[in-house]
Amino acid sequence: MGLLTIGTFARASRLSPKALRLYDELGLLIPARVDPVSGYRLYHPAQLERARLVAWLRRLGMPLARIRLVCSLEPGEAADEVATYWQQVEADTATRRDLATFLIDHLSRKDTAMFDEASTLTIRYAMRSDRGLVREANQDAAYAGSRLLAIADGFGRRGELASAIAIDALKPLDAELPAGNLLNALEDAVRHAGTAVRDLADGEPADQEVGTTLTAMLWSGSQLALVHVGDSRVYLLRGGNLFQITHDHTFVQSLVDEGRLTPEEAASHPQRSILIRALHRRAGAEPDRDLREARAGDRYLLCSDGLHTVVTTELLHRVISTVTDPEQAVIELVDLVNQRGGPDNVACVVADVVERDVLGRGGDEDAGRRDRPSDSNSAV
Ligand code: MG
Repeated sequence: MGLLTIGTFARASRLSPKALRLYDELGLLIPARVDPVSGYRLYHPAQLERARLVAWLRRLGMPLARIRLVCSLEPGEAADEVATYWQQVEADTATRRDLATFLIDHLSRKDTAMFDEASTLTIRYAMRSDRGLVREANQDAAYAGSRLLAIADGFGRRGELASAIAIDALKPLDAELPAGNLLNALEDAVRHAGTAVRDLADGEPADQEVGTTLTAMLWSGSQLALVHVGDSRVYLLRGGNLFQITHDHTFVQSLVDEGRLTPEEAASHPQRSILIRALHRRAGAEPDRDLREARAGDRYLLCSDGLHTVVTTELLHRVISTVTDPEQAVIELVDLVNQRGGPDNVACVVADVVERDVLGRGGDEDAGRRDRPSDSNSAV
């Protein structure tokens, strides 16, 4: 078969002559021949397959330099490269979706005073951690400060250390907020926590698993960043309703998500404590991330599974919505766990979003800062 003119080739490949000239200049799709007299580009029909691939990849939004890479690979490798590219696109889209959601929520509020309100919001908080009545040590750790709230539930032989170093990696955020994006700052700190836990795990025998869950919230003005990995939870009490705003990274939750188990069956499943994501020896446990808008009147509860698997959601809701003092609320929640046999360590944080001027003596931001107890079984 003879060579095709650029016009014919353009129609057959659904690429414009202008695009074909560009791809020639970039070395992406070089004509079979260029007429030495007229300068016309001529293409072999066999080049159509490559031209169509280029057109498809352009429709995916792939940059030309990367298309050149894909075109140079064998089909199997090219498929892998496209898959990698698409994963990156989806991750980028998820990040932009979070930001867009936040902005839509922020800008659509008719009450523009929200912008001014940002500087007047603060949190009133309390935390408590307890060994429970069965476990020998307390591997749960918690932190509550004026900007940072965090819960970690360690596991393995040195789980107590894993949860403590994960929390330690976040603490600098409470003292000084880095410039820039709030969510990025928290994500970076969680990444450091993951590295610290991996370093700990690498020092352990290969058959000894050690790691921790980590769920943390960081505040600035009316913005609230949330990063979460594992099966600790965050609940939001807003308008009298209790919402679970984190997703458990457990084996049973994945079965519930797939419709193979009901939530009720999951609650009593013998393998309900198996985590599918946590900070541990192996990298790649991507945390969930969220950027939210805080509103005055919101109440947040962070807790380890030692609370939410022992106390029913209905009872949690009742305590959270009726006990107004955060300190009293965390005391009652831990008491409820121990009244039910205290089968696991428990850690919980209750934080109220309040107008700064309604704070009483708790208004001194540093006065209420608390950390895990040095005596793992003592109340804080
Ligand atoms: Mg636990």
